[in-house]
Amino acid sequence: MHTKKNKMIVVQCWDDAPTNDRQLTEIFRKYSAKATFNLNPAKYTAKSRPMGWRHKDTEVCLLGWDDMKEVYADFTIANHTFDHAWLDQISPEQVYQEIFEGRERLRQFFQQPIAGFVYPFGMYPPEAIKVITEIGHVYGRTTGKGKYGRSADSEKFTWPIANPAVFHPTCHFRDEKFWELYEKSREVGVFYFWGHSYEIISKEMWQQFESVIARISADESATWSEVYELFTPSC
Ligand SMILES: [Zn+2]
Repeated sequence: MHTKKNKMIVVQCWDDAPTNDRQLTEIFRKYSAKATFNLNPAKYTAKSRPMGWRHKDTEVCLLGWDDMKEVYADFTIANHTFDHAWLDQISPEQVYQEIFEGRERLRQFFQQPIAGFVYPFGMYPPEAIKVITEIGHVYGRTTGKGKYGRSADSEKFTWPIANPAVFHPTCHFRDEKFWELYEKSREVGVFYFWGHSYEIISKEMWQQFESVIARISADESATWSEVYELFTPSC
């Protein structure tokens, strides 16, 4: 686990592979921003398809396998379980299968190591923590605002985190304190935000989001990194 001394490391990740990830990755390429995408291989078909629900009156669609190699070229893929399981509601055997199978399918399809893990619905029961560590994931991201980041009971920031298998991001990309937390995170050297691209539903929101990425890329005292690199030996 490491940080670069002189610059704050900024990492981001995005869940579930909605079709808006295409536009998202175009923005990231434009500003040379790194990002990790957390996928559930059981959810996808060859072509993109509706997820069967709406986010604020906008239908949510998932990318298809046929799109993914192009959309995610040059980005990092992480495991979000095989079928977006409620890990707190299934047997230990099913927990293992969900985590193991998710990683295997993604590794085979994308032909890249799958180092990261993200808990569906933010649920991280002890059995899941154990399995992700055992099978070699280097971190497990929650949806919490935890010990590192904005704590529910404290504004104290710490790095390194106590347990990489319970990795609380700093904030969601739409957090109203996003920039305040960004500035505060300079104290610890790491800022980590996450989201779903289907939450960006208007032209104004896309412009606003692009300005966020542009501002981070223009920050000479910050640098983009891959999430997994936080947990690999310093070079
Ligand atoms: Zn998800």
